[in-house]
Amino acid sequence: MNDLLDTFPRASLDRLAVADGNRSLTYAQLDAAANALARRLRALGVKPGVLVAICHDRSVAAVVGALAVLRAGGGYVGLDPAHPDARLAYLCSDAGVAVLLADASVVARLGSLPCPALDLDADLDAGDLDAGDLDAGEPPEPMAGPADVAYVIYTSGSTGEPKGVQVSRANLRALIDWHCQAFSVTPDDRASVVASPAFDASVWETWPHLAAGASLHIPDHATTVTPGALQKWMADEEITIGFVPTPMAELLLELEWPAYTALRIMLTGGDVLHRRPAPGTPFTLVNNYGVTEATVVSTSGVVAPEGAGLPSIGRSIAGTTLRVLGADGRVVPDGEPGELFISGRSVATGYLNRPELTAERFVPDPFSDEPGTRMYRTGDLARVADDNTVQFLGRIDDGQVQIRGHRIELDEIAAVLAGHPSVGHCAVVVREEGGDARLVAYVVPADVPMPGREDLRAYLAERLPAQMVPGAFVAIDALPVTTNGKLDRAALPAPGWQVLVGGSAAPEGPTEEAIAAILEELIELEGIGRDDNFFELGGHSLMGAQVVARIQERFGVELPLLAVFDNPSVADMAVVVSEAVLARVESMSDEEAEQLLASSGGE
Ligand code: ADP
Repeated sequence: MNDLLDTFPRASLDRLAVADGNRSLTYAQLDAAANALARRLRALGVKPGVLVAICHDRSVAAVVGALAVLRAGGGYVGLDPAHPDARLAYLCSDAGVAVLLADASVVARLGSLPCPALDLDADLDAGDLDAGDLDAGEPPEPMAGPADVAYVIYTSGSTGEPKGVQVSRANLRALIDWHCQAFSVTPDDRASVVASPAFDASVWETWPHLAAGASLHIPDHATTVTPGALQKWMADEEITIGFVPTPMAELLLELEWPAYTALRIMLTGGDVLHRRPAPGTPFTLVNNYGVTEATVVSTSGVVAPEGAGLPSIGRSIAGTTLRVLGADGRVVPDGEPGELFISGRSVATGYLNRPELTAERFVPDPFSDEPGTRMYRTGDLARVADDNTVQFLGRIDDGQVQIRGHRIELDEIAAVLAGHPSVGHCAVVVREEGGDARLVAYVVPADVPMPGREDLRAYLAERLPAQMVPGAFVAIDALPVTTNGKLDRAALPAPGWQVLVGGSAAPEGPTEEAIAAILEELIELEGIGRDDNFFELGGHSLMGAQVVARIQERFGVELPLLAVFDNPSVADMAVVVSEAVLARVESMSDEEAEQLLASSGGE
């Protein structure tokens, strides 16, 4: 077999391969850049079984880096530069990476790693890609086989440490084959890349489209978290196929889509989908279910505008077999709930350096005649309908949760929090408030008084990705336990929200009051003060887009989403809004200005 993405067809060489806001490469240039880097990596000892970390924002440079690792025969470990240094350093050492490919700032941040670190951008800038000397760009001698590692993605781990899922080249090939066939991808397709490089959806967005000779298009971060901006970017870039995480897909479905949109397929997945496309939506919405341990996607199905109940997660994809088993290990009759097990070409190699955990989750497949075949036990509850579509019913245990598409082991957060010297015992749970899930930490202090929530938050923020830092910290005398001694999550008191707010003075003036009211309504929290911080109270980046929309409704000015990120307190947001209102007034006639000032509180 020609190994993965070793060469691109001659016919595609002049076509656009990948573009971000700064750079774009044709397939010939991508080939040359990746081959040059692959040869350097080979010289640094990268070969089958050797891992290379890539810690770089989504970009042309990151795609060149990952392709170079694959061509050198190694496997890449996708890391998100937004994660704290301590976590990135831990992941590099857990994976035992031989090389770090990163941007200059990450190279500086993680400078003390025991492996060479290469600045991907400097490398690209140094290469003369337009010179056309492509003969100089042969890839290194192929060495890797189908069983060798293609990539490692870390997922949350309940013991307090994330676990690396090792995915083989044969697994990746299965994903590529299914995707290209199922969605009839052609070189004319233009695909978006919006997922974090630490999330396996990025694998899905990238490789099948490059294998098909389509082009990849990469927006900046602010665009990926702002529905209106993402929609506009997709229209401007004439994106034809793209993945968006479930919460963003739900927001995009609320927008009007012009009939002439180039988008033909919107892929979504990662969390429970609550919406269907409106009749007449000019693209097909496809819901996908998958786990990192079975190479991104296991079921897939078109979501029709009409239909009763929540959309299904579709049917098993080519090469994958799903079984819903009862506690006795037998297949339950259709229509009955049970645990979902996945077998087939996409079942991953296992957890990196964790043989026991691998044996626990990747179990022998008793339904297969072939010895050694394994199936992955998902821990998800599901039911298969008569037409073979699968309904997702939730998690079997409540220790692993999805929050806005992020997979989180609550015990990982608790294990890290327990490392704080003032924390005796602790538990972290998810609370649903008004349809929105929020992490709440319960802390039994090691000594009195309870450490301040800022202190706890800062401690976690240095060690965990932002989405794993709880919005609320509640002091408690002892953690309630069930009769068999396990944490009794249901018996934990609902946090009185005064635990969170109340320390801050009341909003001053009509603008602050109106902004506090907007945040109170969105976060469903009363008594927000002028110094309270939107994100610390449980607001999140997608909610930020709603803040922008409400401010526009109320004040008639559209703030960039970044203005909310940069000014998350009520008082600071009020200053930005007042400035924007004034700027608008200055550009208006007297009559228009009076009207706007009257409607925005008269300031
Ligand atoms: P991915 O392969 O999408 O990165 P993760 O390994 O991060 O997935 O998380 C897997 C979990 O996400 C699943 O076990 C399931 O609980 C949840 N999940 C994934 N896709 C869906 C979906 N379409 N609907 C409901 N839950 C989903």
